[in-house]
Amino acid sequence: MAAELIDGKKVSAEIREKLKGEIADLKSKGIEPCLSVVLVGENKASQKYVASKEKTCNALGIKSIAHKIPDTTTQAELIAVVDRLNADPAVHGILVQLPLPKGLDEKEVMNRISPSKDVDGFGPDSLGKLMLDEPGFLPCTPHGAMKMLEAYNIDPGGKHAVVVGRSIIVGKPLALLLLQKHATVTICHSRTPNLKEECLKADILCVAVGRAKMITGDMVKEGAAVIDVGINVNEEGKIVGDVDFDAAKERAAYITPVPGGAGPMTIAMLMYNTVMSAKMANNLPVDM
Ligand code: NDP
Repeated sequence: MAAELIDGKKVSAEIREKLKGEIADLKSKGIEPCLSVVLVGENKASQKYVASKEKTCNALGIKSIAHKIPDTTTQAELIAVVDRLNADPAVHGILVQLPLPKGLDEKEVMNRISPSKDVDGFGPDSLGKLMLDEPGFLPCTPHGAMKMLEAYNIDPGGKHAVVVGRSIIVGKPLALLLLQKHATVTICHSRTPNLKEECLKADILCVAVGRAKMITGDMVKEGAAVIDVGINVNEEGKIVGDVDFDAAKERAAYITPVPGGAGPMTIAMLMYNTVMSAKMANNLPVDM
């Protein structure tokens, strides 16, 4: 039986629609949510991501300011930009698009972003709160994955979740969020000896590696929910995930497509964090 599609486009559209209403409400109170995006250099993929974030901001009524800085910028100059945005009360979210050009210290720059404006959720304060089960900005891609599960009534409680990939951006925080929802969680990575055996235990299988079709159909447990975060370009120039979708959908009960799954959810959760930040800055109640 073919799996039900977890439609990230649809779920993200619903989230964006709800945010639109909240943004209109904030604007009626004289508050304009504002996201500042810092883009250093000419990386084509980064330019595309920044453009798509700006487009979504504009569609929702979030003010978007892009700071395009040449790759000749020094660490001190970049830090000064972040400091200026940290100090600007009209800015609610700061996002420094990664990767930074060689020679710039990403960690120092990310750690410099004020915890109250860390809408990417990658800073030590945000990640510490996640570890402590305290409310805070959640990293957007893992948060989006959890929202997709929620939208399809897939409760991680009591289930076995396997996360393949342990990056700070996706794998590690996603494992913590699944744990928070009472799943038993296994984290796999490049040194996991028997990946297939681990994956086959997964009621919920989340994959964030960056290798096309590395999860084959026979690695998916019958009836599993599969969240494919991977973004790869295949030999035909098409965007594909990390999971062999056609084979996996024959065994899974639910599966995300690529594109149209985790991607649109990530941007929606960035908008969510920006709106949340604008509310917090104005002492309004937030739903985290
Ligand atoms: P990273 O490269 O930071 O991490 C990849 C992870 O995969 C690492 O933990 C690595 O293990 C693990 N890995 C590599 N090879 C294997 C293997 N053979 N078996 C098991 N695990 C392996 O990537 P990201 O987490 O940043 O991104 C992962 C994918 O998700 C990429 O395709 C990226 O483009 C995509 N992505 C999509 C987003 C979206 O919006 N949809 C957002 C962010 C990322 P180890 O730690 O041991 O090296």
